[in-house]
Amino acid sequence: MKRRARLEPGKLLVRRTELKRGDCQMKRTPLRSVSAKRAAENRRRREMKNELWPDGIRPRCVVPWCAHLADDIHEPLTRARGGPIDHPDNSEPCCRDHNGELTREPEWGYRYDLLIHSYDQRPLAQQAADRRAKLAAWAPREAA
Ligand SMILES: [Zn+2]
Repeated sequence: MKRRARLEPGKLLVRRTELKRGDCQMKRTPLRSVSAKRAAENRRRREMKNELWPDGIRPRCVVPWCAHLADDIHEPLTRARGGPIDHPDNSEPCCRDHNGELTREPEWGYRYDLLIHSYDQRPLAQQAADRRAKLAAWAPREAA
């Protein structure tokens, strides 16, 4: 639009046309903190946890040399690797320390199938069975 009147010093500019967007009449919808899909997934995870370990009784940490009670549920096939967070065969009780340590991918995590590579083709039930066999076979080293 071409300006017809000259700008005068000290005179305020006045809008002559309405804004097409961005006025306060627009409907504002707040963002959800969790998507509906993720909320449903979290609900199934809570139900699974209550089925596996009812009455809020905490099992022992899955790491065989750990004597602590579990604080968290560890997923050997992580969500980032496409693992489900609400599947009993992909859930192991874990203390907070070991869950944090497993996040840093120690060698022993892969050795005991507590960490699974994304390219591992075994079904979850087979991974869980192999993991339980390897954990059961663990024995403390004889003191020399
Ligand atoms: Zn532990």
